[in-house]
Amino acid sequence: MRDKFGRPVTGLRISVTEECNLNCFYCHREGCSAGSRQMSAGEIGKIVQLAKEFGMRKVKLTGGEPLLRKDIIEIVTAVTAAGMDEVSMTTNGTLLAKIAAELADAGLNRINISLDTLDETTYKRITGRKLLHEVFEGIDAALAAGLAPVKLNMVLLAGINKHEVERMIAYASKRGIILQLIELLEVGGKNFTIYHCDLDDVEQSLRERAVAVRTRRSMQARRKYILPGGEVEVVKPMHNSEFCAHCTRLRLIPDGHLKPCLMRNDNLVDLLTHISTGDLEGARKAFAEAIARREPYFKGALREVRVSRSV
Ligand code: SAM
Repeated sequence: MRDKFGRPVTGLRISVTEECNLNCFYCHREGCSAGSRQMSAGEIGKIVQLAKEFGMRKVKLTGGEPLLRKDIIEIVTAVTAAGMDEVSMTTNGTLLAKIAAELADAGLNRINISLDTLDETTYKRITGRKLLHEVFEGIDAALAAGLAPVKLNMVLLAGINKHEVERMIAYASKRGIILQLIELLEVGGKNFTIYHCDLDDVEQSLRERAVAVRTRRSMQARRKYILPGGEVEVVKPMHNSEFCAHCTRLRLIPDGHLKPCLMRNDNLVDLLTHISTGDLEGARKAFAEAIARREPYFKGALREVRVSRSV
């Protein structure tokens, strides 16, 4: 199904918990505020079945930290049972080593692991915890379990980790991992201006070395740089109307509300009430309403698309 801006909605990003065992100072918490309910594995499975009716084919499980859910294997099993084309997860990796193989057996296709630094002191400064070694073990386990491609999410922070980009490229390339360099987003009124850095100089350096550059239209038009021996994707959402123009995601937050946009909390749609009472028609209406409320946060380009289509 397409929204009123002509954007297809093909992916559902599900936050399965608000809890996290890290305390990254910049974290947007997927735009969630504390709710009083939490979806069960069975309810998540039913929701994904409905999402499929609306044309969604990809599910990403996230959090908080999704691996804190004791029933995470049940959740992955319920989601894969719906027959999605791809089921993936974003995790901080600290709890991954023990469960990676089980996740793969349950049907998880691939995994993103958040890692902003290779330095223990910097890791503690960003996350508040000394768990870098556990993340390295999680990465090894994900690779061994075949959760491919493994991707590393690195948020660039001025004065903290920007100087580590080359080291991170080398670390990822050596292991056949795709590195995603992510621009710091300012969500929910948090002001991180001092840490924000634009990624233009990094991209320029990647462009000069790349053997190929691709634009992934289905992934918010992000650029992919194929380097000799490695791959780097650049995610630049801030004030980027092209990013929003190619957004294909709907979000679901832990308390069972559909969330049309990461950046907003004033247009949520309650879905869980319908699911928990078996009101499937109400649930379908909730999905349709959430898709209808989708609107690009940074609009520029999309207005033009809409105008040119209506001519
Ligand atoms: N706990 C899991 C993890 O660490 O991947 C899932 C939740 S976390 C919110 C998902 C992703 O969002 C992580 O890769 C994290 O680095 C990224 N993220 C969090 N806050 C961000 C921000 N302000 N700007 C850009 N990316 C952010």
